[in-house]
Amino acid sequence: MNVHDSERISGLLEAAGYVRAEADDADVVVFNTCAVRENADNRLYGNLGHLRPAKTRRPDMQIAVGGCLAQKDRGEIVKKAPWVDVVFGTHNIGSLPAMLERARHNAEAEVEILESLEVFPSTLPARRESTYAGWVSISVGCNNTCTFCIVPSLRGKEKDRRPGEVLAEVEALVAEGVLEVTLLGQNVNSYGVEFGDRLAFGKLLRSAGAVEGLERVRFTSPHPKDFTDDVIAAMAETPNVCHSLHMPLQSGSDAVLKAMRRSYRQERYLGIIDKVRAAMPDAAITTDIIVGFPGETEDDFQRTLDVVRAARFSSAFTFQYSPRPGTPAATMADQVPKAVVQDRYERLMQVVEETTWAENKALVGSTVEVLVAVGEGRKDERTGRMSGRARDGRLVHFATDGRDGIRPGDIVETVVTYAAPHHLNADGDPLSHRRTRAGDAFEAGRAPRTPGVSLGMPTIGRPPVQAAPASACATH
Ligand code: SF4
Repeated sequence: MNVHDSERISGLLEAAGYVRAEADDADVVVFNTCAVRENADNRLYGNLGHLRPAKTRRPDMQIAVGGCLAQKDRGEIVKKAPWVDVVFGTHNIGSLPAMLERARHNAEAEVEILESLEVFPSTLPARRESTYAGWVSISVGCNNTCTFCIVPSLRGKEKDRRPGEVLAEVEALVAEGVLEVTLLGQNVNSYGVEFGDRLAFGKLLRSAGAVEGLERVRFTSPHPKDFTDDVIAAMAETPNVCHSLHMPLQSGSDAVLKAMRRSYRQERYLGIIDKVRAAMPDAAITTDIIVGFPGETEDDFQRTLDVVRAARFSSAFTFQYSPRPGTPAATMADQVPKAVVQDRYERLMQVVEETTWAENKALVGSTVEVLVAVGEGRKDERTGRMSGRARDGRLVHFATDGRDGIRPGDIVETVVTYAAPHHLNADGDPLSHRRTRAGDAFEAGRAPRTPGVSLGMPTIGRPPVQAAPASACATH
């Protein structure tokens, strides 16, 4: 979500007349911060410290800080780093160009943090990073109160976008050549709660299935509490919806889930997975897991390992619990000692790796359809391979032997010859290569743009300075 917000910030600034510049000689630098990762504030103030000499040398340079950390720290940021010009929050990214202009005109810092959403961010212009895949927000904010999570206090209550607007943005992206869309929300399964339709998400998936030219639909993240059978049916019955599901587990222990205030239990979680596998035997299921939540016992931890084995995850993002100031869990009495957390984390990683490797090995010899990507294969240059994602989301490095002109955005079919825990290799000749409009756009260096409707944002004309791209730190 944070990466996508950065696309909005870039698009917004470009629409206001700014152009991209290298960080060294940029006249405006924007930090889009994340408060979910540990040490986010150290990283921000470290980065701001690095920019201080440049700001002293060139006082007209402007520095803006937005995102969750700005929403949390507010005026503190300009107290700690008085060389910052603009602080804007998660609810008013549309105000950034006007705030830069006001700060420049008044020669003083502008701090503006709103308590609720001013304009749904998707109505703002976006400068998309990928020619073949795009993010589309369906909701922002979250009505849950997980005790470890800072998101609700920084992103507010869930706001749903109307289905017609979501589909219009999907269609606009496809018209630009995009083949894959990921529908984004903190909890996609509660989509519709605001306009009174509990089945809205399944319907949205089916509607996306009717968009001509859209080859892949993904979504993130669902919440097990609100997961309904109609969503599984929509996934199974809509041909362009990918059989990949990222469903955060967080813990396999009912006691820990209760303390986390996540209102599903292990049985429900595994029940959803059984239904998904019954409807889509080829589904790849991925998850997020936290180890060492306050009060977690060895027995609780074993329940998490049980779920990892039973669920047969194809990948898992694993985290060591660390307190986030301002969350209920941060002040819980029975914090688990660091050494215990570390030990459990290493054991979890081992079980996750065994599981994901076994799942990947089962795919050797099968044919995969790969959407060729940029930047997914660090060793590609050395190995002569290209990389991309299979329909189920798995990373595939493939040999291109005998096939010239394969471009990011194109579609290749190939056979898996080797499995590693976190990727697949396909070292034979590709079975087929399909040139796509996304590949044409990549070759032409043309990024998709969605214009948005710049509601609530004053038009300020072309500013006299050039801007750096918004800098994304991390995603939730
Ligand atoms: S972890 Fe996810 S579901 Fe829970 S409060 Fe945070 S954003 Fe909401």
